[in-house]
Amino acid sequence: LVQARDVHKSYGANEVLKGIDLDVRIGETVVILGPSGSGKSTLLRCINHLESMQKGSILVGGEQVGYVKRDGKLYYANAAQLARQRHGIGMVFQQFNLYPHMTVMQNIIEAPVGVYKEKRASAEDYARMLLKRVGLLEKASAYPRQLSGGQQQRVAIARALAIKPKLMLFDEPTSALDPELVGEVLATMRDLASSGLTMIVVTHEISFAREAADRVIFMDGGRIVEEGPPDQVLVNPKHPRTRAFLNRVI
Ligand code: ATP
Ligand code: MG
Repeated sequence: LVQARDVHKSYGANEVLKGIDLDVRIGETVVILGPSGSGKSTLLRCINHLESMQKGSILVGGEQVGYVKRDGKLYYANAAQLARQRHGIGMVFQQFNLYPHMTVMQNIIEAPVGVYKEKRASAEDYARMLLKRVGLLEKASAYPRQLSGGQQQRVAIARALAIKPKLMLFDEPTSALDPELVGEVLATMRDLASSGLTMIVVTHEISFAREAADRVIFMDGGRIVEEGPPDQVLVNPKHPRTRAFLNRVI
């Protein structure tokens, strides 16, 4: 579903991604680990074209997000084409970014109804199904400030799922939460992973990586240093930098 080839990204003279190759198959859950500043967020932002890159390509579902191909040539996507491409990609951030003046239900149906012109009634039906799935059906009429951090993040996950994405990107979804609220969000994510959704998850939660990941990727200094099944990368890392990192976070 995702094919990244030789992705290079710089901010000014600072080269943040130094040639990333990454393939993610349909249904796979890939966890990305790595120290602060290693380029994890930048990679996610390149995948949905929140950032452009200087070199390389990233295909999602066979299309290069941000570009359209015509007569064998690549052109910049216009706003409508980019919206269609992003329709397939959901993203959940560290900060939940719910709209404070909207109820949980309004937050969830905002993109499907406002951007993608779905019928309100069917969007609400789907939103209720999602709220049930994240265990928050009774909170549909609540405002974000009336919810705990963990509940808000579960709403943010439901909101990202409301556009029926083929791919979900998570950027440290639990690192802004109080420790006792982390478990409920990880449980929701484990449930999604086992339902066959394709997910790329940046997290420092090693237990989640061990239980839910099909593959773990360790990034350092803008490169993928090591990757493999969790029991290999987490238990028996080959690279000294992976080992040093795991010793610090476990
Ligand atoms: P963390 O674990 O702290 O979230 P990360 O692995 O996600 O780190 P990135 O956020 O991808 O790291 O940042 C990688 C590098 O790119 C850092 O050196 C950062 O300072 C730089 N960087 C990120 N975003 C920008 C930006 N918008 N402008 C300039 N430099 C940036
Ligand atoms: Mg980051």
